[in-house]
Amino acid sequence: MDPITYKLNYNGSATSTYYPAVAAFTDLVIDYAEYSITPITKKYRHYLIGYRLEEPRSIEEYIFELLNLGVLWRAYGNTAVGIKYAPFRLMAQMGEWRKTHPRLKPLIDVIRGFTLSFFLVPSPIQRTDHAPRSLNDLDRLITWLEATGDFREDAFRYIRLLGYFGTLPESFIPAIMKKVLVFTDWFASESLRHMGTYTPNVNAFVSTNQSGYRWREDRFACLRSQTEYHLNMVGAEIMNRAYRNEFLSCKTKTVLLPGCMRARAEEKCEGIKSKKGITCSGCEPKCHVNQLREMGRKNNFDVMVIPHSTDLSQWKTKPGEIPSAVVGVACLSVLVQGGWELQRNNVPAQCILLNESGCKKHWDDKGFPTALDIRELKRVVTN
Ligand code: SF4
Repeated sequence: MDPITYKLNYNGSATSTYYPAVAAFTDLVIDYAEYSITPITKKYRHYLIGYRLEEPRSIEEYIFELLNLGVLWRAYGNTAVGIKYAPFRLMAQMGEWRKTHPRLKPLIDVIRGFTLSFFLVPSPIQRTDHAPRSLNDLDRLITWLEATGDFREDAFRYIRLLGYFGTLPESFIPAIMKKVLVFTDWFASESLRHMGTYTPNVNAFVSTNQSGYRWREDRFACLRSQTEYHLNMVGAEIMNRAYRNEFLSCKTKTVLLPGCMRARAEEKCEGIKSKKGITCSGCEPKCHVNQLREMGRKNNFDVMVIPHSTDLSQWKTKPGEIPSAVVGVACLSVLVQGGWELQRNNVPAQCILLNESGCKKHWDDKGFPTALDIRELKRVVTN
């Protein structure tokens, strides 16, 4: 079947096609950055260490953060800077409330859908050709990102970057960002060449569904560009490399699966609900979740289903507890934000992509049970 937007196992199993391809492309991105944005990330990392603002992370992660900033600026810079007034704080708060008050989520989502479009996207989104002219331009982008709710984790990261930029002469900002954007443009064209076979229908999906998603709360998650898909592929690979050892050192591991992997609709699933998620009770032998639960029994990992907006801080290790690792599974449009949320909460994590997206709620009128690459899961969990 033709994918809705992307498909990892388009030309054979993802283990033998997609995963080697994304590893090789990520190496290429990191090598190319050496002559472009790596020197900027090294200075930024030095600043973070000097002011003890965070536990220093790998240079590759900071390369990804800057690249992500470039992609977001190209995609949303004009829109964000052009907004004169919006209830930014309230909108960011709504993103929080839907996590902390799951019962109110349907109502909050309707309100969010309307306010997102009305305030944050008053006119059609167009590519931003110029670089940010000042720190203020970047500040406005970050405020906008946080208000969307979808880019909340991105915004958290860039507040520290703004702090660093604030220590530099104002005239440096456009020059630094021009460099970031040159690298971003290189990434956009190279990623199309290397990873484009896995995202064949993104452009068609976005252009066909622009108006249909206009007032929906999932408009940003579902209308991402092809470059954003490729960006998240590389981001997932970089994060997995960075947290591999920490993950492997944990004795207990839990694989967090999205609800769309279930064979039955939400109301017919007999899983047992708790604050952390849903524990499969095995009501349906053909269910992918149930099959992975069986696999977990033999390979020493737990499985849990988590609804889309679950507050991942629930997995945070409490003082005195032995750290427990998780594998986050999600579709390409939300995987990196989930990984960042886990990382912010100090949860040793790895992430695995769904082979394609297909849930009824966001992507497909009828929906179909989604799946992941079993061999990749086994490799990630058991080394
Ligand atoms: S097998 Fe498990 S996850 Fe699948 S529908 Fe039944 S209880 Fe829910």
